[in-house]
Amino acid sequence: MGTSDHRLLDNQTPGKVYLCQVSEKISCGACCGLYNINDASFENLNEILLFRSDLFKDTKRDIDSILKFKSIIEEKENQERPFEDFHHCPYVGYIKENCIGCLLHPLGDGNNGVDLRGLSYYGGFACSTYFCPTCHTLNPEYKKIIRLTAKDWHLYGIVITEHKMLKNFFKSIEKRLKKQIKSEMFENELLKSLIQEFVDLKISWKFRKKRFKTLGNYFFEENIYPLKPIDYSKTDVENSEFNSIFMGLNSVFKSNNELLEANKIIEEIIQKINFLLK
Ligand code: SF4
Ligand code: SF4
Repeated sequence: MGTSDHRLLDNQTPGKVYLCQVSEKISCGACCGLYNINDASFENLNEILLFRSDLFKDTKRDIDSILKFKSIIEEKENQERPFEDFHHCPYVGYIKENCIGCLLHPLGDGNNGVDLRGLSYYGGFACSTYFCPTCHTLNPEYKKIIRLTAKDWHLYGIVITEHKMLKNFFKSIEKRLKKQIKSEMFENELLKSLIQEFVDLKISWKFRKKRFKTLGNYFFEENIYPLKPIDYSKTDVENSEFNSIFMGLNSVFKSNNELLEANKIIEEIIQKINFLLK
């Protein structure tokens, strides 16, 4: 984290597309447990992160002061977690205005090049070498499209870990288009806004049960909280082409009409994209 020079960072990343820090405004803290919080709305997280960053500015960079910072944060913030075994790190904050990152990173303001991540729960080695399943498995072109079209850190971090949902979406576009998509095709503003419309569904999806409590996901490979399969028992089908999208959106369908409506929402976005790509 701390630089956005993709020429350097892409080469050091599994899949050759760096996802963690995209620009001054687009970065991710999902594997630091950022969204493992009862209210993962932008408003709530923004308030939390602003407080942390302000407090950290005034924190001396010695062991006792940094551990004291952690105690203050943990006392102030609700410690209930949607995923109890997924650590939420108190050291994720704003490293610059609107830029999510690690307050303990050696390139962080005031850290004088010292890597303080050894004081965290995961330890310095894990923090500096971990890459989530999306980094390892998602098609590089799909990664570049998400990176190119991201509009804010909050949505970017929520969607970037949903590799199955993203794969399902982009594969459905390619199936109808009958060719593979490339990130260069998405430089157009209309296409960007359609990808954003799809990503926005993470927040606005009307078939998700609980609004902000289920915004985050548990995406680690040793999946101790597997996503619940979609219950199609109240619909006329046993499965859907958009199954992984619906799972990524934590969907619950109470009738066949609801499923038809959900299909229509996704299909319309895909059709508009295909129309512009033809
Ligand atoms: S969740 Fe993935 S993309 Fe986000 S910071 Fe972690 S490794 Fe990077
Ligand atoms: S210490 Fe590790 S887990 Fe915590 S914010 Fe930094 S990188 Fe993330």
